[in-house]
Amino acid sequence: MAPGGFDLARGGKQRHKAQRLVRKLCPTCKEMLFPATEVECRVLGVDPAAAPIIARPVGCDDCRYTGYRGRVAVCEVLRFTPEFDDAMARGATRAQLRTLAREQGFITMAEDGIAKVLLGEINIASLVRAVDMTDRL
Ligand SMILES: [Zn+2]
Repeated sequence: MAPGGFDLARGGKQRHKAQRLVRKLCPTCKEMLFPATEVECRVLGVDPAAAPIIARPVGCDDCRYTGYRGRVAVCEVLRFTPEFDDAMARGATRAQLRTLAREQGFITMAEDGIAKVLLGEINIASLVRAVDMTDRL
């Protein structure tokens, strides 16, 4: 299945869910001092001229000097609503289904991951390791 794609092959499902576990930055020692680099801005989909400050791992006693502690799920959930079922039954294209999913609040794993980077929960290196972000580069 393509990253962020829908697995429509299995009938009768109520929803599609995909998730990856991403290591969390240690809350005790993570640093939020520097803005995202140009490449990081590209991954995040933000203007480098307005680069956000993003968290970076440091290392302390609490995380055994790794800079990371615990994991958090980065996920996407697509609910097969009645509208979605109707659209599929009418033979909607992939693009039409994607638009409908968007209207119903669907966000991709990449977007969920980016939100967690911007919140300082995870860093980009960990996200890129877990979720294919190459279409953003
Ligand atoms: Zn730490």
